[in-house]
Amino acid sequence: MFWTWDHSTEWALNRAGAQTLGASNYYGRRPETFIEDYTRLLQWCGKHHIDAVVVWGLLRDIHGGVESAKRLCDVAAKNGVRLLCGVGLNAYGGVYYEGNSPYSLEKHLEAHPELYGFDQAGNKMAFNFGLLGQKITHHACPSRGENQQFAADSLRWLFTQLPQIGGVQMETGDTGICRCKTCRERRTHPENEASLSWDDMALMYPIAAKAIRSVSPDALIVCETYSNPEPSPDPKKPQGFGENKAAWADECLAKFPEKVFVQWVGDSLSKPKNSVAWTDAGKVSNAPRSNIIRAHYSTYWMGQRGEIAVDWIADLAQKSTAHGMEGLSIFGEVSPFVAGAELNYLALENLGSASNPKASLEIFFRDVADPLLGGKKRGKQFLQLARTFGDGPRVADALKEIYPLCAKLPPDAARRWTWLANSLSSSVCTAG
Ligand SMILES: [Zn+2]
Repeated sequence: MFWTWDHSTEWALNRAGAQTLGASNYYGRRPETFIEDYTRLLQWCGKHHIDAVVVWGLLRDIHGGVESAKRLCDVAAKNGVRLLCGVGLNAYGGVYYEGNSPYSLEKHLEAHPELYGFDQAGNKMAFNFGLLGQKITHHACPSRGENQQFAADSLRWLFTQLPQIGGVQMETGDTGICRCKTCRERRTHPENEASLSWDDMALMYPIAAKAIRSVSPDALIVCETYSNPEPSPDPKKPQGFGENKAAWADECLAKFPEKVFVQWVGDSLSKPKNSVAWTDAGKVSNAPRSNIIRAHYSTYWMGQRGEIAVDWIADLAQKSTAHGMEGLSIFGEVSPFVAGAELNYLALENLGSASNPKASLEIFFRDVADPLLGGKKRGKQFLQLARTFGDGPRVADALKEIYPLCAKLPPDAARRWTWLANSLSSSVCTAG
């Protein structure tokens, strides 16, 4: 699966306005570019066995609202790819991410201010969450029946308006939880100071899945947990984004709807971080729910956007398979013109396929990367040289190796090495 925000997705080249990082940013490209970006992306996924693409910000007035989403659902269906709408249930905008729609969470809360979430001090939960420029995020109180109804109505509307949409990836919010009296009394687990709540997930996901399935019984539903699947050793401490699952997570997971994909965060369990040992206690069961794991490779969230990450993806694929995961999700925002991103996407295809059941990096190099990079052992060489990024003397040596190679190789292979040379020289450039 590919995961994307609309504002950072840049597959149509030489068009203005893409952002390179963020969540919940403004949209800066033209409406027609939104269609072009995702058309290319979906066509590529269709050719390369990527099963689904998550789009956060799918519905915005500024890039054509429902009409644009419909066009992309058609493209996805034609290419055999499931287009999934990113949906925030208590935060992250609701179904209609931005604009003048009754299904925008922001509009809903502005019209009914009593339905907001409230912090410990009793303040309405509407605060700046902008990473690039200001963006106010609006939180709903999940305990309020009106908000549960709003989420269910919005989802039924989404699947009625877009009958070809493949499903949703939904979240309850990880930017703080409502601390009104009803929420505090409802939650049965210690969640003081928590940024996310397993109790809220267990409350909202069944309501949402029921609404979706009432219109679209076959929809693919992915439920975010914001956690890695390794149990926390602390029986009382709530965990933050990407940390071990809370001690009470399994109790809440048992209340999740059946036949959904439970989504986990893989960054700490795999290279390059490897900060958490993934033990047998972190194995997942695929009955009655499936499991998928997502990581932030090749993004500014944890490195360089577009950098090659094939060995890290292989590491996650191997560990995930051994621990019961059925799906892998990586960012798909960068065009495969960027050779690092291209190799990552092809690695996801190859390492997650039956032709490479052990997710062997050697097989990926031999069958996929080497031919694209000019021949035997070139894949490994490319990866090794890419890792000199930012290291002046080693970059200088790498460039001495790459430039003569470019002259000898056919154009497409040379283009990929040229990208690497430019990327490395930019990392140590002192011009300007
Ligand atoms: Zn509340």
